[in-house]
Amino acid sequence: MNGATRAILLGAPGCGKGTQAKRLQDVLKAPHLSTGDMLREARKAGTELGRRAAGFMDRGDLVPDDLVIAMVQERLARPDCEGGYILDGFPRTVAQAEALDRAGVVIEAVVDITVGEDEVVRRITGRRSCPSCGRVYHVEFAPSRDGTHCDACGTALVQRPDDQEATVRERLRVYHQKTAPLAEYYRAKGLLKSVEGDGGPDAVFARIMAALGHAAGGPAR
Ligand SMILES: [Zn+2]
Repeated sequence: MNGATRAILLGAPGCGKGTQAKRLQDVLKAPHLSTGDMLREARKAGTELGRRAAGFMDRGDLVPDDLVIAMVQERLARPDCEGGYILDGFPRTVAQAEALDRAGVVIEAVVDITVGEDEVVRRITGRRSCPSCGRVYHVEFAPSRDGTHCDACGTALVQRPDDQEATVRERLRVYHQKTAPLAEYYRAKGLLKSVEGDGGPDAVFARIMAALGHAAGGPAR
């Protein structure tokens, strides 16, 4: 096998990034690290960083950069990251990317998954989640058995306010405004790989693997 893959996945909300990151984790044996998961973990564990982050999350505010970066660094220092890691949804801004560089975090490839806006809206507005156990469904692609209750625990499913159309379009606008400079930042470093996110998850996964293989110098020769 090749050496470690240290990569960032970029992509607008609803591009399928989380799904792809989990598959990459299985294939590359590199942990998939999303800030959302790290924040929830830290919060649940009641760590110092987790408690501070919880205050911001409960007010509906973004968790500040220095706090997120401290959490990422703490996570990347664990032994399971020695063989590589997949950062999902972080960094979001050039300021965060620069902070990662300053922290000495090695990034070998940045995969940007691109999907058209209307397709993203369709994917996101169909999401339903279980307020009790957190399981996520989709009215079109992955409905629960009766369409309205969680298969695992029977709780009535809800559409999160974040997943309503007006909110989604606004999130996309903000995302692109913030992320375009980030993509440029990594393009200038020769690390950016744009991958089409349309089509099924298998096709997208194959494109990502090809992009990463290329970034890592190709398959073993
Ligand atoms: Zn449930």
